[in-house]
Amino acid sequence: MLTVEEALDAILSRIAVLGAEQVELLAALGRVLAEPIVSRREIPPWPNSSMDGYAVRAADTRAGVSLTVIGRVEAGATPARPVEHGEAMRIFTGAPLPEGADAVVPQEDVEAIDGRIALRGPVDGSAYVRPRGEDVRVGDRVLQPGTLLTAAEIGLLATLGHGQVRVHRRPRVAILSTGNELADLGTEPGPAQIPNTNTYSLMAQALEAGAEPASLGVAPDRLDAIEERVRGARDADMLVSSAGVSVGDLDLVREALTRAGAELHLWKVSMRPGKPITFGSLGGRPVFGLPGNPVSAMVTFELFVRPALLKMAGRRRLTRPRMRARALTPVSNPGSRRGYLRVRLQADASGLGARLTGEQGSAILRSMVAADGLAVVPPDTVVPVNGEMEVIALREVTYGGCDIA
Ligand code: AMP
Ligand code: MG
Repeated sequence: MLTVEEALDAILSRIAVLGAEQVELLAALGRVLAEPIVSRREIPPWPNSSMDGYAVRAADTRAGVSLTVIGRVEAGATPARPVEHGEAMRIFTGAPLPEGADAVVPQEDVEAIDGRIALRGPVDGSAYVRPRGEDVRVGDRVLQPGTLLTAAEIGLLATLGHGQVRVHRRPRVAILSTGNELADLGTEPGPAQIPNTNTYSLMAQALEAGAEPASLGVAPDRLDAIEERVRGARDADMLVSSAGVSVGDLDLVREALTRAGAELHLWKVSMRPGKPITFGSLGGRPVFGLPGNPVSAMVTFELFVRPALLKMAGRRRLTRPRMRARALTPVSNPGSRRGYLRVRLQADASGLGARLTGEQGSAILRSMVAADGLAVVPPDTVVPVNGEMEVIALREVTYGGCDIA
């Protein structure tokens, strides 16, 4: 059996980064930058005022001094003339600082009478002045390829004049559920049937990872039926199926994948929940066979499929943040496999705590609903209350796109 790290390495070494395309700026939200952004602008382009007040020469200012107001400059206007010794110019937030002036006195700090202002004290040089280039200089490499574009990056790109930007293509993921017992959404489960959960949780996880999922529906436990669905996933960049990868008579996914032409690279990974997970290549594209229990499917997606999708989408950082947390309840992981236990994180005066979200059975989806982290617990271990554990934070989300309507 492979460790989680060995399995992830084996997977990622076979994942190629997808190509790039040019998109409108706002369509790039949640996408991954495919080019370096080097500024051709100084931001701000000239020194300007950060207050409504008066542009002055700091050397002229002292308590009791009065200066002649020689005009005004508003945001969007150019100062008509320089400020000379003994003078001041009315100025507004965002307006260019006139030549000669090197500071701004806020209007509430002066007394204005008859075209003059009286100062109450000295003003520091460069007070309330935003210097040219304080945010961005020409030639600054402000964004690296591989950066996830969030609202702040979109704003910066707009500031720098990019109406369009090059981003990686979103991975298209085909999601297949297998099992005779599954009734899909919209059909009432028959007497021996259960509702199909995994298609939807896995599509949602794909969306959260920035991908474009498409459902291949539910295949019954028949080789020909599974093989046919697998072959139908030609347009996808990745195929993810769930269930039918264990050792039962009806666990046919591995054989169906092989019949469809896939080469399988790994099967069992030493983890709980999880263990049976298949990864292979089909016509150069990655295929995953995840376990069927809803929690196992989600946890293996989280640990293996998500990093693969992020790599395809051009992201540099493929893993979630990990943190140390104190156990607020005893956390036990009996058995020889590493545990990934569902916990809820809680910050308090002594740092970060984590409590189990309840029963940890791999079919208990409500323990996943309540979780915002996975505690990573070594085999045969009981972490006592206040014992330290490593926790993977689960809730960083970047939505992808699909035709949901
Ligand atoms: P299997 O790996 O096929 O033995 O499935 C393991 C367990 O997961 C069984 O109890 C299945 O009924 C259940 N299961 C498999 N696929 C799904 C699904 N799409 N939604 C909900 N439960 C599932
Ligand atoms: Mg089954």
